[in-house]
Amino acid sequence: MTKLIKNGTIVTATDIYEADLLIQDGKIAVIGRNLDESGAEVIDATGCYVFPGGIDPHTHLDMPFGGTVTKDDFESGTIAAAFGGTTTIIDFCLTNKGEPLKKAIETWHNKATGKAVIDYGFHLMISEITDDVLEELPKVIEEEGITSFKVFMAYKNVFQADDGTLYRTLVAAKELGALVMVHAENGDVIDYLTKKALEDGHTDPIYHALTRPPELEGEATGRACQLTELAGSQLYVVHVSCAQAVEKIAEARNKGLNVWGETCPQYLVLDQSYLEKPNFEGAKYVWSPPLREKWHQEVLWNALKNGQLQTLGSDQCSFDFKGQKELGRGDFTKIPNGGPIIEDRVSILFSEGVKKGRITLNQFVDIVSTRIAKLFGLFPKKGTIAVGADADLVIFDPTVERVISAETHHMAVDYNPFEGMKVTGEPVSVLCRGEFVVRDKQFVGKPGYGQYVKRAKYGALMADQDVVKMS
Ligand SMILES: [Zn+2]
Repeated sequence: MTKLIKNGTIVTATDIYEADLLIQDGKIAVIGRNLDESGAEVIDATGCYVFPGGIDPHTHLDMPFGGTVTKDDFESGTIAAAFGGTTTIIDFCLTNKGEPLKKAIETWHNKATGKAVIDYGFHLMISEITDDVLEELPKVIEEEGITSFKVFMAYKNVFQADDGTLYRTLVAAKELGALVMVHAENGDVIDYLTKKALEDGHTDPIYHALTRPPELEGEATGRACQLTELAGSQLYVVHVSCAQAVEKIAEARNKGLNVWGETCPQYLVLDQSYLEKPNFEGAKYVWSPPLREKWHQEVLWNALKNGQLQTLGSDQCSFDFKGQKELGRGDFTKIPNGGPIIEDRVSILFSEGVKKGRITLNQFVDIVSTRIAKLFGLFPKKGTIAVGADADLVIFDPTVERVISAETHHMAVDYNPFEGMKVTGEPVSVLCRGEFVVRDKQFVGKPGYGQYVKRAKYGALMADQDVVKMS
């Protein structure tokens, strides 16, 4: 079915202009003014921006953690993502030591197949480098199109890999054309500090933050950057939360290294004091890295503005307060780490970033979509509005005001960390490959519509595309 989006203002990472969009076979077929309406379903976007669909590079759906499983799976999680203006996610496929990577990837396909309402890809966690793993990695890239590997420098005795594994992953990634992602916190020192806190009788949620100080994120970030330099490889630091880590990334980039940094909405608008909420409610704000003192927020905003950080992920990893976060009553180390963020990622950056003059409209599109597509091998099929690209589109009303609340959100969890926050701007309709997933703020998508996306190698464009970029 041909669709014609009329009268909207198209915004990409580089341009802002008024034009109509003709969509055919799930792709953008024509961009121009006063396009012929005959045979097309006309969608009026008067007063709205038309953005490329958001891409969330950092989600954990249906993921086991701390003796429980995240509340949102690929159905509720992607529905919430779509309401928030996201049309593609990249989720983290966990692996187990000694188990074939293929098996882990199969497990993740099974979680998503038949459930996702928008498109999705996977990153692969690397927990060890063995001969078997080295033999499998080229197949992971060629056959699965998984071109990014995640290494944890924290969560000792759970996910944490040692520096040798990180280094060897960087070397392999360089040879194979993949991007290495790190969770950069010094897990060994955190392990010591948390044990000591418990011994001293400190069990409240705030000790989650106090035992993971920003210095340990800065240290691990710097170490990962140095190993990247030694390996001549490429690095993407996930969920940067503090000035110390920004400083290390900026230093590496100033040297010309291929080092990239992501932050998340929670670090831009919430701070450490939330962990001190009474009645154990601080547990709602427990994730890693932890929320920081408020002054870090301005450093992160400036880093987005000046390009030291380039992307915004959600780190969606949701647990109910009742029954899940509560597992950590009396012992903060048992609080499942993570929060429900997937739905409000785009809105918060628009409202707090663009509306408050911290970043430009073009920067906003780059940060939530285009740059992510380029770094993770989705561009130019996704991440922009151009002839030949997938018609992944968000029709966005920049004037409407809304209050974020668990009562109205679409995630499956019983709280929202941004509860009561006023935001300006909201997606009205969202299309994935030319089909409405959300239309006039109503869900009209289908579980199973979302397709698995095989991504191009680091630095490469998606191969099967024939995209003519508008000048
Ligand atoms: Zn994460």
